[in-house]
Amino acid sequence: MDVGHLFNAIKKHPVLACITYVDLASFIRRASLLKDDILQPQPQRISVSHAPDVLPDSVTKFLATSLDMSSDAVDNLWYIVKDLVWELPMSAETSAEDEVAFKLHGYELGLVGRTLYPPVKTCINHDCTTWQHGTLLKKEEQRRIVLRTQIDLEGAKPAWTVHLKCRECNTNYQFNYSIKDQLRTYYSGIPQHIQVSDHQFVELNLAMHWMDLMQIAVSATNCGHLYGIAQTRCTHDDTDHWQFGNVITTEQVWDCFVILAL
Ligand SMILES: [Zn+2]
Repeated sequence: MDVGHLFNAIKKHPVLACITYVDLASFIRRASLLKDDILQPQPQRISVSHAPDVLPDSVTKFLATSLDMSSDAVDNLWYIVKDLVWELPMSAETSAEDEVAFKLHGYELGLVGRTLYPPVKTCINHDCTTWQHGTLLKKEEQRRIVLRTQIDLEGAKPAWTVHLKCRECNTNYQFNYSIKDQLRTYYSGIPQHIQVSDHQFVELNLAMHWMDLMQIAVSATNCGHLYGIAQTRCTHDDTDHWQFGNVITTEQVWDCFVILAL
C-alpha cells in the first residue's frame, strides 16, 4: 500500500478524517505488536498470511481506550491498515533489521543507531550567562565506545558518546557527569548506562545484575569472567572493528558498584 492510497482511504471516513499522524503511527505499531493475539481467536482454517478482517474484542477495546478512539473508528481504521500491519515485521525482527542496516550502511558514516548524549541540552551552571538564555550546548567531541549490555541483548555493542561544551563557562557535559575546572559533578538520578572507562559503558540492568551476583558472594572478578565467557557465545562480531578490548576488569565492575552507590 502506498502512502497516498492510505491517506486517501482514511480521509474518506468521517470518523477518521481528524486522526493525527501520531495516533495513526501508534495504532499501526500497537496492532503490529498484537499480531499473535489478533490471530489466536480467529477460526482455525484462516490463512495466517492474511490479516483477519475483524479484530478480537479485547484488541479493539485496547486500541480504542489507549488511543481515545471509538470502537467504530478502530474497526474502520483496522480495515484500511490491516494489510500494512500484517506486512510489518514484529518489533524483535525490526530491531534485528535495523542492526543489519546500520552495520552495512551506517558504520562507515559514523552512524550506529546508539549514541549516548548528555542528559542536558543547555548549560546548567547557574553562574553562567548562557544558563539564563537557555543557549543550546554544542558538540565538543565524539568518541567511539563499547556498550556492555546483557548477553540476551547481544552483549557488547558498538556505539558513540558525544560530549557537549558550554562556550561561555567551559563546562564539559558528558553522559554521566559534567566537568568544570577539573571538578567532576555527577548528574542526579540513576543513569541508564554507566561509564567504567574512557571507551566502555555498562548498561544499568547489567550493572544491577552484577550487584545481585555480588550479594551472593560472587566476586567482582568472577562477574567480569562470567560476562567474558558468555560473550564468546555471541556470534556477532560488531565490536571487532571498534578495536576495544572485550574484557571486563574487576575495577570496571567495582566502578559500577561505586557509581550506583553515589
Ligand atoms: Zn555555561
